[in-house]
Amino acid sequence: MRVDIISIFPEYFAPLDVSLMGKARERGILDIHLHQLRDWAHDVHKTVDDTPYGGGPGMVMKPEIWGEAVDAVIDLGRSAEGGEPSGSPRMVVPTPSGRPFTQEVALEYAKEPWLLFAPARYEGIDSRVVAEYGTRLRVDEVSIGDYVLAGGEAAVLVMVEAVGRLLPGVLGNVRSVADDSFAPGAMANLLEGPVYTKPPVWRGHEVPDVLLSGHHGKIARWRRDEALRRTAANRPDLLAGPGRDALDARDRQV
Ligand code: SAM
Repeated sequence: MRVDIISIFPEYFAPLDVSLMGKARERGILDIHLHQLRDWAHDVHKTVDDTPYGGGPGMVMKPEIWGEAVDAVIDLGRSAEGGEPSGSPRMVVPTPSGRPFTQEVALEYAKEPWLLFAPARYEGIDSRVVAEYGTRLRVDEVSIGDYVLAGGEAAVLVMVEAVGRLLPGVLGNVRSVADDSFAPGAMANLLEGPVYTKPPVWRGHEVPDVLLSGHHGKIARWRRDEALRRTAANRPDLLAGPGRDALDARDRQV
């Protein structure tokens, strides 16, 4: 997967060199390209923002600079060595007013050959940028949660890691994804339950007997019961959602 990120803080993405993402990059599974937005600014101060029309506090990122940057990055991607990927990227614009970024969206993005992220600072990017690229690309305005960050870079880090770990060959054991919280199938609308490793007793806390029993059926049922309990305690909204029909008779007793 090719990932382009345009930002006034490309150095913010250093964590993508570390751990799973770093290995995915080394192995060529994740091909990340960072671009400094200010390279497309025209004045000596490399200004990328201006005062908002209609007044109010804060500054807004200028459309001409984003437009030139996005056009140039798309051209670069299209003419990349080997000619891959062809076509157009899916453009992702982080904003607290976007649609929620969920595991389902991460799975959708993991199927894309090319993503282009446009994280903003200040009060965001002039809205005409999304309107303009929406006429020729698939553009998503996406929020990573109901809170406001200082900039979109942290949101992009979150999304790239969530998507990157789903790419084939990144995780050692593909079953980890199937067992995750929110995974489609048995875990849809459920949080993962508690996990344990050796020793069997630590500071007086024991590992639940069932996990030491070797009985796969009972372990699977116990895990599902714990997932339901944890979901009911921490995220009752998930159980009240449309996935409720997926609960079986035994689930309803937990
Ligand atoms: N005034 C904007 C609002 O209330 O919607 C918030 C602007 S915020 C200070 C600056 C930038 O941080 C946003 O344009 C976006 O790129 C990013 N950002 C902040 N919170 C975010 C969130 N929850 N999800 C995704 N991006 C976010």
